[in-house]
Amino acid sequence: MAVKVTKEQCIACGACVNTCPFGAITTEEDDKALITEACTACGACIDVCPVGAIIREEEAKTAGIDKSAYRDVWVYIEMNEGQLRNVGLELLGEGRKLAEAMGQRLCGVLIGDNVEPVAKEAFAAGADAVYLVEGPEYAHYSPDAFTIACTDLIKTYKPSVFLLGATNDGRDLGPRVACRVETGLTADCTGLGIDEQTGLVAWTRPAFGGNIMATILCPEHRPQMGTVRPKVFKKPQPDYSRSGELIRVASKVRPTDIRTKLVDVIKVCTASCNLEEAEIIVSGGRGMCKPENFVLIEELADALGGAVGASRAAVDAGWKPALHQVGQTGKTVGPKIYFACGISGAIQHLAGMSSSDIVIAINKDADAPIFKVADYGIVGDVMEVLPILTEEFRKLRG
Ligand code: FAD
Repeated sequence: MAVKVTKEQCIACGACVNTCPFGAITTEEDDKALITEACTACGACIDVCPVGAIIREEEAKTAGIDKSAYRDVWVYIEMNEGQLRNVGLELLGEGRKLAEAMGQRLCGVLIGDNVEPVAKEAFAAGADAVYLVEGPEYAHYSPDAFTIACTDLIKTYKPSVFLLGATNDGRDLGPRVACRVETGLTADCTGLGIDEQTGLVAWTRPAFGGNIMATILCPEHRPQMGTVRPKVFKKPQPDYSRSGELIRVASKVRPTDIRTKLVDVIKVCTASCNLEEAEIIVSGGRGMCKPENFVLIEELADALGGAVGASRAAVDAGWKPALHQVGQTGKTVGPKIYFACGISGAIQHLAGMSSSDIVIAINKDADAPIFKVADYGIVGDVMEVLPILTEEFRKLRG
């Protein structure tokens, strides 16, 4: 999507040159604006041009899209080794609200091998219909097969909105599909709503290093697409009295379409790093002082049957792999209990764990910001407090 200057209309006022946040506009000999390759098409110059001389090149191209042909809110129901991932249910819960506000149906997209029984979970979570594509080629996630299946569904049935989880697979699949159906995608959203003026989905996500929350609209293309972080929304209570329409769609994938071959599955993530699904997380930060001390975190997590998290400071120091990082640039978690041990409570860390039901903080600094969000606080040295807690929880478990 490019931005261009209509030379005949440009009055060489220089307003766009001064406004461009990327320094991407210079002037020609006649002082008229010239957009360079540094342009990100952010549109700041369009807003500031007093004579409307700057336009998006694609405006003419999109004029032909009949947006009224696009209906319904779709949610991609992600599977992992034959199991339904919670993020699909979380998005069905939130998608329900969008669908009701838009007066449209909520539909699930279920792709896999023998996954039909999962459809009833989608209906129970609020779906009115489920598009089902089944076949052995979908037994494991493959970028080619799943991209073809989703693209075909969108081109055939034309949804207005398509939500995916911002998981490894969702982050791979979403942009591939968006590109093929020529729409935009807002990645890693932390909030969804309806823009009152336009009725479009308002996609909210952190921007500029988390310093602002940007709300993004997709006015020109369909479907409106976005990925949403797991655990941002709560799973709805299932209502198994609900049912819906099951729409079976034949797979269009041919063996030659799949360019990758799955040779083996090597699990790098054990229960201790499955943070998104964990009900209890014990996280350590720089206050653990050295990597060997993380054993105290692991022992408490083990005693509670929980997962191990880490602040970015601990990850950057190489004490834990990035798989364990909680926060704005790590994972968003929402356990029942979150232990923050030797973690100060920086805003970027809170961004990933503030939807936890109960937060327990251990910090030797009574003024640490983490205590502002903690339900229970222990002012003390983690080296002393953690072994005591572990011992007591082990006793309780018997
Ligand atoms: P510190 O801030 O150094 O805090 C250590 C705490 O341990 C202190 O409160 C101290 O009182 C306490 N302490 C020390 N010794 C002990 C002891 N023996 N017993 C008890 N308490 C003790 N951070 C994240 O966590 N996740 C992210 O995803 C993330 N993303 C970021 C993205 C951007 C763009 C930026 C700019 C920053 C990001 N950060 C992130 C970094 C964040 O700003 C903080 O620097 C980081 O969270 C600090 O980690 P910490 O709390 O472990 O360390």
